[in-house]
Amino acid sequence: MYIQLEDTLADASFNFDDLDNLHALENIFSAGFSGDHLVRCSKKVLLILEENRNRFGSRTQRVIEKLKALSFQGMAPDFLRGVMSKIYINHTVSTVTKLDDGWRVPLNIFYDNSLVVRPLLLCEDLTDAEVLEYAAKHYVLVNKIRGCKISVRLEGGGGSCITDRLDYILRAQRDFVLCITDSDKLSPSDNLDDTAGKCANLIKSSNWVARYLPTPGRELENLIPWRFIDQALNVDCTRRWEVIKRLCNIAGSSVADYIDIKEGVRNRWVLEMPDGSPNRMYWEAIIDLLKEKDPQLQALLDKCNHSSKDACECYVFPNVAKRTADQVLGWLKINTPHKSAESLERRLDDDWVNIGREIFDFCCGDDKIRL
Ligand SMILES: [Zn+2]
Repeated sequence: MYIQLEDTLADASFNFDDLDNLHALENIFSAGFSGDHLVRCSKKVLLILEENRNRFGSRTQRVIEKLKALSFQGMAPDFLRGVMSKIYINHTVSTVTKLDDGWRVPLNIFYDNSLVVRPLLLCEDLTDAEVLEYAAKHYVLVNKIRGCKISVRLEGGGGSCITDRLDYILRAQRDFVLCITDSDKLSPSDNLDDTAGKCANLIKSSNWVARYLPTPGRELENLIPWRFIDQALNVDCTRRWEVIKRLCNIAGSSVADYIDIKEGVRNRWVLEMPDGSPNRMYWEAIIDLLKEKDPQLQALLDKCNHSSKDACECYVFPNVAKRTADQVLGWLKINTPHKSAESLERRLDDDWVNIGREIFDFCCGDDKIRL
């Protein structure tokens, strides 16, 4: 995370003879040295650190040297100044408070060295977390960011059990955590589903360095750039994927964000939504549009007399593959992030790069310093 030492550390009230203070600072600087976090301070604080440099170990001294070199370069680059998940370290406060661009955190939480480790990216499963880490890598590449990197630990929360895991992490206060789940919204005007809503509320009511983001569309699969899926899918899935793309192009902008890429969208599923509900109205409008442009699909859907959504075999949008995200991850892993970034399409893949930015903002680390 981006850790900013606040100017209170240069006040007379800050005691460099206090071993707890020194230990907490050593912990923070050791994270800056290893690159697990990114540590910065003002010239005022840097001056007082330099005056006291002999109190610190060699690693901290190296970080102070680096900060001094950076201070000669002038203002920090835009991508760092714009980080929205900063930690401001202050020795005069006793609790964590939320700010517009991060959190003000008491220095003494770093007495314990558990927070020196990289922040946690918690998703419903590990595949989701691994795929999303690529979004952050792509954000770094697209914006030609140098001198820092993504520093993150990945964890899968076990599907809907993620709420229990998140609750535990927030209570234990031993990890800074960014939690990202599927929104499971069925249309643009839908609310977050149960799991996503619980995660959002847990973080909102917690007094800890933690952030929650739902996927902008329905699921992670809706966020994945199309050209990644084009190249990643097993051959037996590509025909259905081509149909999906053709229908999305007919139906217009937002529908690709709300289709179920894994299971498909069946006619009866729409008809079982409550009459007049925003979700049903959204999907009925899409179906009407598709029927108008595709007589074959119209014939298929008009014949549908299935009694339940589970029995219905009339697909408005076909199902691609249950393990679409795994296939994409497999493809991402056999290519370098540079190579996969070449497949990004400007504007079409903005959501992908934007979530990459959110992850970078929470999980940026310095380049490791070499002795
Ligand atoms: Zn049917």
